[in-house]
Amino acid sequence: MLWSGWGDPALARELPEQVRALLRDFLGVRAPDIPAVGLESVRLPPVALPEPLLGALAGVVGPAYVLTSHEARVRHTRGKSTPDLLRMRAGDGSAAPDAVVLPGSHEEVAELLRVCSAERVAVIPFGGGTSVVGGLTACGSGFTGVIALDLGRLDRLLSVDPESLVASFEPGVRAPEAERLLAAHGLTLGHFPQSFEYATLGGFAAARSSGQASAGYGRFDDMVVGLTVATPTGTLDLGRAPKSAAGPDLRQLVLGSEGAFGVITSLRLRVRRAPEERRYEGWRFGTFAEGTAAMRALAQEGPLPAVLRLSDETETMIGLAKPDTIGSGGSGCLLIAGYESTRASGWGSVAARQTGAAAVLSRMGGEPLGAEPGQAWEHGRFSAPYLRDSLLGAGATVETLETAGFWANLPRLYDAVRLALAGALGSPLVMCHVSHVYETGASLYFTVVVAQEGDPVAQWERAKEAANAAIVTAGGTITHHHGVGRDHRDAYAAEVGPVGVSILQAVKARLDPAGILNPGALVPPTA
Ligand SMILES: Cc1cc2nc3c(=O)[nH]c(=O)nc-3n(C[C@H](O)[C@H](O)[C@H](O)COP(=O)(O)OP(=O)(O)OC[C@H]3O[C@@H](n4cnc5c(N)ncnc54)[C@H](O)[C@@H]3O)c2cc1C
Repeated sequence: MLWSGWGDPALARELPEQVRALLRDFLGVRAPDIPAVGLESVRLPPVALPEPLLGALAGVVGPAYVLTSHEARVRHTRGKSTPDLLRMRAGDGSAAPDAVVLPGSHEEVAELLRVCSAERVAVIPFGGGTSVVGGLTACGSGFTGVIALDLGRLDRLLSVDPESLVASFEPGVRAPEAERLLAAHGLTLGHFPQSFEYATLGGFAAARSSGQASAGYGRFDDMVVGLTVATPTGTLDLGRAPKSAAGPDLRQLVLGSEGAFGVITSLRLRVRRAPEERRYEGWRFGTFAEGTAAMRALAQEGPLPAVLRLSDETETMIGLAKPDTIGSGGSGCLLIAGYESTRASGWGSVAARQTGAAAVLSRMGGEPLGAEPGQAWEHGRFSAPYLRDSLLGAGATVETLETAGFWANLPRLYDAVRLALAGALGSPLVMCHVSHVYETGASLYFTVVVAQEGDPVAQWERAKEAANAAIVTAGGTITHHHGVGRDHRDAYAAEVGPVGVSILQAVKARLDPAGILNPGALVPPTA
């Protein structure tokens, strides 16, 4: 993974000429004055942890698994939001952990938490490092030091129960590896977020992730049937049955807890039989309103495709739904539908589902475009993040933000966010798509491109603050799947209200009395 960008550097994307022209002529983008620094030039604070404490950590995991090298610290500084990348490109490593510690078992995690609580060392659980909400920004103030707890050594498939369709994993397994391990059993998880190549199963659970095929396979929190969690005050082992009436479901307290309550050391996940057939296709709608009405009809009446996404007019024109051919979009609003089927899925044949959905989409005003747009989307489904690095290098800020709401409120939410972004940024390019649908509502995912002006981090923070305020006022949730981290903490507090905040604080105080776990993320500090 590129330390200051996304993905495998060998897959870096050149910007097509149409995109360069658009940036120059319509957005006024100019090459930045200062080029990005090299890894060796990132400025890090000195290691604050005293040698005896580093020795105590090494005593738990072994000396080879406590890293204080410049490179290890840089690679565990922050996540992958655009402000994170802009700061790293500018050489700002002020949020670096003092050390990176890699435990090899649940027992080692538990012992590390005991030592760190006693010595007041902040612990940031680190999965794939793809957080986009400030979930990994070290905050050492008031602590002896900070460690990044890298879960990469906990990377095993522990068991498969083919009868119950449940697989048990350690948390550091990356999504492609999880799919590879399950494929050997003829199974799949079906979780394909855009960060698929690098994110981990523990990170998906901790941040309540949602993948591109959520209409078919559900969100990640729908897949979790059990969890083991190491906390400073003991171990939580949750989930004896798929559903239970035994009081409030404490699994839900761990899902979305973003490393602030404990460290997930294993997960039991519902899996599905791998599809025998997949088909993707495109449809065109005249307007975003017509397209969303068609999605609502599918979500409420069925049959629901496994993948269902609709780009608004701007995103369709730019061609973002097909990142491999970006810059050559069309008119109207492009809808991508993907159908998957296995004998045992209960989803019926692909053909039957496709025919049923086509009847609904046609009735709602859609024009069939055939397989090509769907295949192009499938081919480029993980490439858009690579484009971000090229855009940052060219002097454009590109960032995404997302929300969700009930169907009746979706148009208001859509308008409010676009207006807020335009108000804060002058004339940005704002694109939107709907990619996660439910019977009662859907998510909205915005991509914003703007010429960098002055301090680009401050420029984006102003826009993000305006968008957050618009989401809160328009009645949406502050996040549908990116999570809370530090960036959404205040808006989350507004969403759950003072009683909700006091519950979060009480849970935190009970499980993590020394407050060492991911301080500053998710839970507002007690006044
Ligand atoms: C280019 C890009 C595209 C993305 N696309 C999507 C998308 O389509 N859908 C989506 O949902 N998200 C997406 N994300 C966001 C991100 O990938 C998800 O939030 C993901 O769940 C994070 O997983 P991770 O393993 O990288 O976790 P990290 O980023 O390492 O950690 C995320 C949070 O969880 C905590 N954590 C990690 N592991 C554990 C653990 N084992 N126990 C306790 N806490 C833990 C961390 O402390 C942190 O607070 C995207 C991000 C990027 C950069």
